[in-house]
Amino acid sequence: MAELIVTQLQASYGSVQALRGVDLRVGSGECAALLGANGSGKTTVMRSISGLVRHTGSITLDGKPLAGDPGKIARSGIGHVLEGRHVFTGLTVRENLELGRYGAGKRSPSELTAVVDAFPVLKQKIRRLGSQLSGGEQQQVAIARTLMARPTVLLLDEPSLGLSPVVIDQVAEAMTRIRAEWNTTMLLAEQSTSLVLALATHFYVLQRGTVSYSGTEGSQVLWQEVHRAYLGADPAA
Ligand code: ATP
Repeated sequence: MAELIVTQLQASYGSVQALRGVDLRVGSGECAALLGANGSGKTTVMRSISGLVRHTGSITLDGKPLAGDPGKIARSGIGHVLEGRHVFTGLTVRENLELGRYGAGKRSPSELTAVVDAFPVLKQKIRRLGSQLSGGEQQQVAIARTLMARPTVLLLDEPSLGLSPVVIDQVAEAMTRIRAEWNTTMLLAEQSTSLVLALATHFYVLQRGTVSYSGTEGSQVLWQEVHRAYLGADPAA
């Protein structure tokens, strides 16, 4: 069980109001996509959930308020793959992955086998240094490291940024497998539609810090809203 509910979330950076009352719900084991143009607030929603940004409103996990510092929130079961690849280049793939377990204060047995089984590319390169990996492999290390804590909710911030279609497919396969095995609840912020279409069943379109559309499945209305959000125009117009 890991149901994430966000109600009337507001956040500002100084005088810049980034979120103006965001409501969303991700049911246990579901994957919801947060879509929107640059600056619409996707990263701020994720950073608020994981305690990295001060906010008002309510964020609950299975009905309990998610509060406290980012370490406490991580220990509550929230895993956050930040935008950009954050890989320790001087450590091996294996060492990078093991750090994910300790970062979330996990003393339970390692999830290494399950995680590298989901990312076969990493299994082959488990002794390589981070510096010897391609950008796509580094992104997979960043995701896999967060999974090492076996989060009940995974926040993925633009994981497909800069990745080739082949690597996006590998990431989609890995996430599908993990979700099937662990029933992980996922919130995916994306600008690219291919990963979203492969994983998400619920969609939220953000525009200037508010949800302008929410729905299930990739309906025509959704894509019209996405188009409007990105380009300010209706594709049919
Ligand atoms: P992107 O797709 O470019 O990552 P986003 O949808 O994730 O964009 P946010 O990064 O959440 O959007 O930004 C929401 C708003 O907050 C934007 O107006 C942005 O300029 C502003 N903002 C974000 N981070 C900061 C910051 N550190 N200081 C000031 N303003 C910020």
